[in-house]
Amino acid sequence: MDLSLSEEQEAFRALARDFLEREAVPHRQQWDRDESVDLAIIPKMAEIGFFGLTIPEEYGGLGGDYATYVLGMEELGRADSALRGIVSVSNGLVGKSILGFGTEEQKQEWLPGIATATKLGCFGLTEPGTGSDAGNLTTRAVRDGGDYVLTGQKLFITNGTWADVALVFARTSDDGPRGVTAFLVPTGADGFEAREIKGKLGLRGQATAELFLEGVRVPASARLGEEGQGFKIAMSSLDKGRVSVAAGCVGLVQACLESSVAYARERTQFGREIAGFQLVQEMIADISLDADAARLLVWRAADLLDRGRAGTAEFRVAASKAKLYASEAAVRAANHCIQVYGGAGYVDEYPAAKYLRDARVMTLYEGTSQIQKLLIGRAETGISAF
Ligand code: FAD
Repeated sequence: MDLSLSEEQEAFRALARDFLEREAVPHRQQWDRDESVDLAIIPKMAEIGFFGLTIPEEYGGLGGDYATYVLGMEELGRADSALRGIVSVSNGLVGKSILGFGTEEQKQEWLPGIATATKLGCFGLTEPGTGSDAGNLTTRAVRDGGDYVLTGQKLFITNGTWADVALVFARTSDDGPRGVTAFLVPTGADGFEAREIKGKLGLRGQATAELFLEGVRVPASARLGEEGQGFKIAMSSLDKGRVSVAAGCVGLVQACLESSVAYARERTQFGREIAGFQLVQEMIADISLDADAARLLVWRAADLLDRGRAGTAEFRVAASKAKLYASEAAVRAANHCIQVYGGAGYVDEYPAAKYLRDARVMTLYEGTSQIQKLLIGRAETGISAF
């Protein structure tokens, strides 16, 4: 076992950190207040390669392994989780689904744009009536000659108002999860509307939308995979997506650690720096331990992907564990970070409050903590609780 990074991985991490320290960290508070990042950062992030990681060079990406990808996601999570989510959804959930299940024509059509961020993707699975129970979604796709006609509604869709292509999961038969089919829907199609959801607790810099599909007509060539394969595509994308979320959470925990240490070294009470108080050190030690533990779980999952184990139960459980642990750790760490800051942690002049607001969604999306526990429990016992 060798947990050291290669020269290329170290170089990418340093490049990513340097870029984000200059281009994201100084602006994140304002973006959070504005409820939107400055979209001019997207092409700059693409130049660094964030959107092309693990997409092969022949489709305009950088290639690269998952170990490098999770380093990139960690750096994004450390700087601004809103940016990490934009990349994870477009490159990860959408790009990698196309890479894994698309025809050559679909790969040529979408991947070069996604890898360079001239096109953004969104992932439309959740609906008002089905979140954790995504296999029972109700959006319909009806075959009409050489086309499909899609009707339904999607909720909480990251990048929804910015995306060029929506990966939409719709029902082609009344057969539970086996009746779900995936479609690549251009967001400019007639009958497609995205409305932004404002007032989120955190991740305010990224767009979250409701999607309305009213008789959206797409050719059969827009179908991703076979009829009935959609739920499998969604779950396979989410398994990898969980590693991406978890890596972002590692970055968040790391940011909480650095921020807590810096503040504790600078703030004095009772005539000494608060970092000298054992109860403050305890909080810092807890964050530090969580950073290491979460990072190791993420690296293990990335390593399984790099060793071609994506479709295995071993990988799926490793991804669930990484996501469960890292997301809960992010909430714990951000909470500790606020505590270390005292009252200053409660106002947005300092980063601690944003860390907690951003961290809070991580235990909810891409499978709640309860769902991850059920998946791990099922793997351990062989009994499904769903
Ligand atoms: P519910 O499924 O209604 O769950 C409510 C509660 O019940 C949770 O605590 C849950 O753990 C619990 N629960 C549910 N079922 C069980 C069970 N069987 N056993 C025990 N407990 C259970 N979705 C997309 O498709 N694409 C996106 O890009 C996207 N981005 C998002 C961005 C944000 C900011 C947010 C908030 C959500 C996003 N989502 C997205 C949706 C997200 O994935 C769902 O919110 C999540 O899957 C949970 O579904 P739900 O909100 O309907 O909660």
